[in-house]
Amino acid sequence: MSQSGTSGEADAVADTPRWQRIILKLSGEAFAGEAGYGVDGAIVRQLAEEIVEVRSDLGVDIAIVVGGGNIWRGMTGAGAGMDRAQADYMGMLATIINSLALQDTLEQLNQPTRVMTAVHMEQIAEPYIRRRAMRHLEKGRVVILAGGLGAPFFTTDTPAALRAAELSAGAVIKGTHSGIDGVYTADPKLDPTATKLDEISYM
Ligand code: UDP
Repeated sequence: MSQSGTSGEADAVADTPRWQRIILKLSGEAFAGEAGYGVDGAIVRQLAEEIVEVRSDLGVDIAIVVGGGNIWRGMTGAGAGMDRAQADYMGMLATIINSLALQDTLEQLNQPTRVMTAVHMEQIAEPYIRRRAMRHLEKGRVVILAGGLGAPFFTTDTPAALRAAELSAGAVIKGTHSGIDGVYTADPKLDPTATKLDEISYM
């Protein structure tokens, strides 16, 4: 699509999403709010409202890879002497707890969802099957991808990239905390001239 032409055309271009399908990676920390631990219902509600807004304003397909660091990280257990794989399985379960909280909140906002887990748990969620995930996205459901890769020795950043590739997503958007209080023009840890943006649009 050309950026040239009348300003009306340029405005239309600016309003068109760059990607039709995105993977949103939400760190567990994003669920915790001020406490830094556990699931804060008000924060999950805010996240869910923004997800619903993006879907309805831009019409993009959204699949969400959910982390678990607000509850448990495998490295924490391994650091305390636990078997690393065992500790990582606990981390995968933490991502599933967060995913169910997000699903509940999205559905309270009337957004159809599916949780798909990489670790099978038929009683509470569907197993992750690529073609079914694609179909859910085509039908306008938000797909919540829980349990990471289902394999220890990874974090949820890896499944975010992998699922983006296999579900033909145009972008991976990562929502994390990392001690920064908002969105800056550059990484404030690296660039002292970075300024905080108080308001941004999704575009
Ligand atoms: N995990 C794993 N395999 C995966 C994804 C996650 O073993 O494919 C475990 C790992 O222990 C990790 C924990 O789940 O520390 C929580 O995920 P992550 O650290 O990515 O959560 P986040 O930092 O995004 O909150």
